[in-house]
Amino acid sequence: MQRRALIAGNWKMNLSLKEAISLTKEIANGILDIEDRDILIAPPFPYLYPITQLLKGSKIYLSAQNMHWEREGAFTGEVSGLMLKDVGCTHVIIGHSERRIIFQETDEQIARKINTALEIGLCPILCVGEKLEERESAQTFSVIKSQLEGALGHLRSVPDSFVIAYEPVWAIGTGRTATPSQAQEVHSFIREWIRKKFGEEKSSAIRILYGGSVKPENIRDLMSEKDIDGVLVGGASLKSESFLKIIRF
Ligand code: PEP
Repeated sequence: MQRRALIAGNWKMNLSLKEAISLTKEIANGILDIEDRDILIAPPFPYLYPITQLLKGSKIYLSAQNMHWEREGAFTGEVSGLMLKDVGCTHVIIGHSERRIIFQETDEQIARKINTALEIGLCPILCVGEKLEERESAQTFSVIKSQLEGALGHLRSVPDSFVIAYEPVWAIGTGRTATPSQAQEVHSFIREWIRKKFGEEKSSAIRILYGGSVKPENIRDLMSEKDIDGVLVGGASLKSESFLKIIRF
């Protein structure tokens, strides 16, 4: 199956509102002629609503960077998936390594977030990835497997639109990218896990993105691997020049 490429930008906790608006406009104007791939941005929470207004009529998908697993209630400081849908999000990043490591998010919490996102019709972008010491001690596959099982093990099925992002922690924001073959090896492992769990059709439909220091200089080689269906970009998605180059790889 030919999977449509997905190029996603995770802005993390960066940019002023003015900068976020300019960046959105520049990206929207820069992709008008692009038909053969999907483009997504994940701005910080307070910018989602103003950006939704800007994206009317645009093909860009809007994603949040996180959500709470409950739909509403006394959870001071949290944001629910229903709120995200209300302000125009179609996607939500779940289990980013910064959430797992800095905010001690557990597999159980991630699984609950995935459940809620699926129930309310938000498409999850589930992030998995090993730390440097885990790679160096040959635990990459066991870590990825346990993250997949922790997040998805309890599910009977997932929609074809479900997205998984392989983001080796040692490659995030470090300038050190996994080589295309290192990434491909893990992507193929993830696809095989999906095949065993959800069947052949799902495994050929679901997109697996690579994330970790993706730049205009390395996108082409990464995208030439057969199981790399797109990228999740942090730093290089904050400037339209580099993000548009990545989009047009
Ligand atoms: C990320 O955090 O999702 C990411 C891939 O960041 P960067 O591109 O900056 O490594």
